[in-house]
Amino acid sequence: MTSTVPAPHDGVVGHVVGGSPVREAERFGPVHDPATGHVTARVALASVDDVDRAVAAALAAFPGWASTGLSRRVEILFAFHELLRTHRDEIAHLVSAEHGKVVSDAEGEVSRALENVEFAAGIPHLLKGGFSQQVATGVDVHEVKQPLGVMAGITPFNFPAMVPLWMIPTAIACGNTFVLKPSERDPSVSLLLVRLLAQAGLPDGVVNVVQGDRVAVDRLLEHPDVAAVSFVGSTPVARHVYETGTRHGKRVQALGGAKNHLVVLPDAELDAAADAAVSAGYGSAGERCMAISVVVAVGEIGDRLVEAIRTRVAGLVVGPGNDPTSQMGPLITAEHRDRVAARVQSALDEGASLVVDGRAGPLVTAGADGADLSGGFFLRPSLVDHVQPEHTVYREEVFGPVLSVVRVESFDDALRLVNENPYGNGAALFTRDGGAARRFEVEAQAGMIGINVPIPVPVGYYSFGGWKGSLFGDSHIYGPEAIHFSTRTKVVTSRWPDPATSAIDLGFPRNR
Ligand code: NAD
Repeated sequence: MTSTVPAPHDGVVGHVVGGSPVREAERFGPVHDPATGHVTARVALASVDDVDRAVAAALAAFPGWASTGLSRRVEILFAFHELLRTHRDEIAHLVSAEHGKVVSDAEGEVSRALENVEFAAGIPHLLKGGFSQQVATGVDVHEVKQPLGVMAGITPFNFPAMVPLWMIPTAIACGNTFVLKPSERDPSVSLLLVRLLAQAGLPDGVVNVVQGDRVAVDRLLEHPDVAAVSFVGSTPVARHVYETGTRHGKRVQALGGAKNHLVVLPDAELDAAADAAVSAGYGSAGERCMAISVVVAVGEIGDRLVEAIRTRVAGLVVGPGNDPTSQMGPLITAEHRDRVAARVQSALDEGASLVVDGRAGPLVTAGADGADLSGGFFLRPSLVDHVQPEHTVYREEVFGPVLSVVRVESFDDALRLVNENPYGNGAALFTRDGGAARRFEVEAQAGMIGINVPIPVPVGYYSFGGWKGSLFGDSHIYGPEAIHFSTRTKVVTSRWPDPATSAIDLGFPRNR
């Protein structure tokens, strides 16, 4: 089955520099339709010179954009919001065609991104600084938040529309200009986003796109004219980005991988917990940084919970993302599919029990329209029980449709498991016990906590970020922390002296 929406390119996905498309490159990479396995486009892989040209365009646009009035910035963000809404279907189909997720899920990604634009449109209020009158006789103090200059964003494959829009709206609302380096796996939607920004009235050069791989990333990290870098991706790369970027004097926020636990207490509502585990474990084929990958079954609920999850998994419909009957699409690449399948085998080899083996048939070989899907990157959902913390499937981020169940005796054991895990993105608890819920909220070592909510992604007016190995740097992304990350504060102390009382005083200024 092929996408019903034409790609915003003619087979070559290039860069956008200073408002102009750039298609020439020395290197290209393949873009696949994960449902068929076919190569659908070639993506340009930027050289150091390509990155330098994009940064130069962003730097040239900076003075004009930084001095553009707040009302005009808001007007552009409102127009962009409207364009995102009217193009939601087109964006979702494009995401699905290159990522593989089902179209309804991709529409959800656009909806969440709209929240970030809405938040950024409040910029006149968000940029207000403090003011103190008469801190000393005739002396006032106020603070202003000024943009940093050129900001760069490096984004992962799993939310090709939403994650760039976690970064761009607040960055530009604060008066910065931007260079986006999208994932080379599903790069086309970035071109659609910059087209919509231009249509909304954003001046050329304020947001630029360089497609590419490590070469482009490393140049952005070293470039003297890049002031700050926002990164979202896997933990090893996040660490590299943080260490390299900060070594080159940049402000860096680098969000990494995850291993999110869903703790189910014996008093939890069983059906709600099983529904949540399946939705959060297998949605988007488990390729979400807030996916639940570990269910922690506490006490006697274990057998009933595993059985409730098993029956639900058996009914899941796996198929191409643009078939409305599919609940779960393929994985991003054949290599990743094989890596996830190897994790399932490792669980079996290391002594866990395979309740549902997603590697077993039936294979997805044809779409509803008869399209040949035999080369698609499909893997059905797997459920693994009696997983131990030392098992590979528990220790590593699987990032696929594999749910591990760890059984523990007590709430204390569950909390310890969550807290000893090296990742700390999200953690959820299902219970009817308010005291346990409050204790979990206070003691769980993770940046985002869900109480009877399996995927606690904060709304756009809070900030998103994990703890421990899920975040390098001290700023969470979007929301209020993004305003702080995207600006620097200047404090102004002023006096309007009366020439009649002016005198020389070599003493240190005192506030009296
Ligand atoms: P990735 O780390 O492979 O790639 C992310 C970005 O870094 C891409 O733009 C890629 O081109 C670039 N990159 C890859 N290898 C690089 C290298 N060696 N040097 C420099 N740059 C490099 O991640 P991915 O596979 O695209 O995305 C999945 C990962 O992202 C998962 O680990 C997931 O948990 C994580 N993720 C985290 C969050 C979060 O908010 N914490 C959100 C989404 C995804």
